[in-house]
Amino acid sequence: MARVPELPEVESVRRQLRPRLVGRRILAVDAVSRGRLHDVARAAGHRVLDVRRRGKYLIAPLDGGLELVGHLGMTGSFRMRGEDGWVPDAYVRASLRLDDGVLDFRDVRRFGMLRVTPAGDYSAMSTLARLGPEPLSAEFDPVGFHRRLASTRMPVKPFLLSQRPVAGVGNIYADEALWRSRVSPRARHVGRLRARALWAAVREVLAEAIEREGTTFRDYRLVDGQGGRNGGHLRVYGRAGLPCVRCGRPLAKTVVGGRGTTYCRVCQRR
Ligand SMILES: [Zn+2]
Repeated sequence: MARVPELPEVESVRRQLRPRLVGRRILAVDAVSRGRLHDVARAAGHRVLDVRRRGKYLIAPLDGGLELVGHLGMTGSFRMRGEDGWVPDAYVRASLRLDDGVLDFRDVRRFGMLRVTPAGDYSAMSTLARLGPEPLSAEFDPVGFHRRLASTRMPVKPFLLSQRPVAGVGNIYADEALWRSRVSPRARHVGRLRARALWAAVREVLAEAIEREGTTFRDYRLVDGQGGRNGGHLRVYGRAGLPCVRCGRPLAKTVVGGRGTTYCRVCQRR
């Protein structure tokens, strides 16, 4: 399974997109390939008011009551034409012609998505419509998190990945947060104290990764063409067989809920 952009990567992209887009008028949208592009031409003629993020979704409110919603999928990236020597290649799926430049949406694997929708209408995007609270907001609180964990029979890791107990956590940061809070990815009964530890760990690993502009893998790029710096800070993800930095025993690799999972059999309890 390829590594996929998660909340810190999307937030890092958002922070670079925002100053480049806010106040700009979209003159036209060239959808080069259909793929997962929905109604994108409707953005033409509208001005970008903001660039926000919900979970792993980028949401740009436009004037006229519309929103441009984007998801990077596995390999999506946004690049400004001419910036850092960027010239469009065969993987550009859509181009937004702005009043002062061109923004390209590049996506090798085509799991990314762009959609123009009436503001707040996410009926065509069920994951976005049902997202749990933002992990770094006050709505994500340890009591509610514990209640949500207690409401499911799923093992804790796949439940985190469902985006319902909290938004934006994918495979990398789920493994990191579970290791940090000493909770097994297969745990089904996460009591109040362990839920609080996991709540804190989710916030810590995401906040730290945002500080470092995300974890870089092959196709993840910031708008300026650079990568993030979090890769050297991962404690479990990608370290199967290497010693756990807490107890020294080798980290195990297994599959939980269909996803490759690295964890410590000694430190992390069911
Ligand atoms: Zn350990």
